[in-house]
Amino acid sequence: MKQRLGIVGGGQLGRMLTLDAKKLGFDVTVIDPTPASPAGQVADRQTVAAYDDAAAIRELAASVDYMTFEIESAGAGVLEELAEAGVAINPSPKTLGMIKDKLRQKRFLQGAGIPVADFAGVETIAEVKKVAKEFGYPLLLKARFGAYDGRGNAIIKAESEITLAWERLGGRELYVERFVPFTKEVAVIIARSMAGDTAVYQVVETVHCNNICHSVYAPARVGAATAHAATRLANRVAQELSGAGVFAIEMFVTESGKVLVNEIAPRVHNSGHLTVEASTTPQFEQHVRAVTGLPLGATELKVPAAVMINILGERSGVAEAQGLEQALAIPGVTVHLYGKAETRPERKMGHITAFADTIEAAERKAQAARKVISI
Ligand code: AMP
Repeated sequence: MKQRLGIVGGGQLGRMLTLDAKKLGFDVTVIDPTPASPAGQVADRQTVAAYDDAAAIRELAASVDYMTFEIESAGAGVLEELAEAGVAINPSPKTLGMIKDKLRQKRFLQGAGIPVADFAGVETIAEVKKVAKEFGYPLLLKARFGAYDGRGNAIIKAESEITLAWERLGGRELYVERFVPFTKEVAVIIARSMAGDTAVYQVVETVHCNNICHSVYAPARVGAATAHAATRLANRVAQELSGAGVFAIEMFVTESGKVLVNEIAPRVHNSGHLTVEASTTPQFEQHVRAVTGLPLGATELKVPAAVMINILGERSGVAEAQGLEQALAIPGVTVHLYGKAETRPERKMGHITAFADTIEAAERKAQAARKVISI
């Protein structure tokens, strides 16, 4: 019988995980609330249910050999209960529970001696004002839960902006973080197998606009010492986490070359999309290998330089991608479209990966492709 993999979450990450799991011969079931979700379109079957629907997650667990998740809002409580009952769920739901609360995650990192930006938990507007006196402006107010693609962040430039930012983020379960005047953002994808081996990918550079990842560059345009520091930090973080799987460690690089960890994702990540074409083992295949007890694959960059640009929605309505033909006419360009029925401004609808002999040439190709696509 085929080995069966269950994935909680059926977005683009689930879709690319499913495609690579299918490549390895797995039977795949996903849970996602949207019928015909990006992953549901390519999986063997989809259960239409919320990411934290305990009954649906229990049912899935009873019908598969291995389970994983592609979204932080997966029901950590029920997954933890199932893991304790012996279901093979990776990464560890305990890790998921810690990471999905960004304040707990920051405390965890700090406790492990990993450098992070100064932060403080806050319960009231008065507390934000008090912390602001110490941290100064600009200051970040962040949602502890459910924030993705920067949608739970507010930059506060003066005391007069605190109340509005507080209200915009819902006025509860927030924390404050000191603004880091970074010169670059970098990320490292690292995988750990069930046997405890690790495989680390090349440091990539990520560029965010409006808190959303726009583009990724491999290798990162940083000096060898910074790349080494980022890799070392990622390894240290991975040692602190439990369970097998792919983890993404996002970091800030300051002017003085100091590297701080911004965030951990206990899953495949946007910063690793270019590994599909550019690395020996795509991050998605690596994750499937890790969570199903297979050996990890090699992580070398196969091309001199690769650039990924996200295709973010430009309007609201039914998604109809235009310009695919012109984009694919550019040599060295690959286009991924996620099959989402509806487009919205800034929604991740697909991505482009381009490779070339230099980062500049790869970027030119990726940008030329992005320019001709509209969605
Ligand atoms: P997050 O959702 O916390 O990962 O933040 C999304 C993006 O917002 C990051 O990739 C940064 O570009 C920016 N950002 C987040 N936290 C900070 C910070 N403390 N200082 C400066 N920029 C930040």
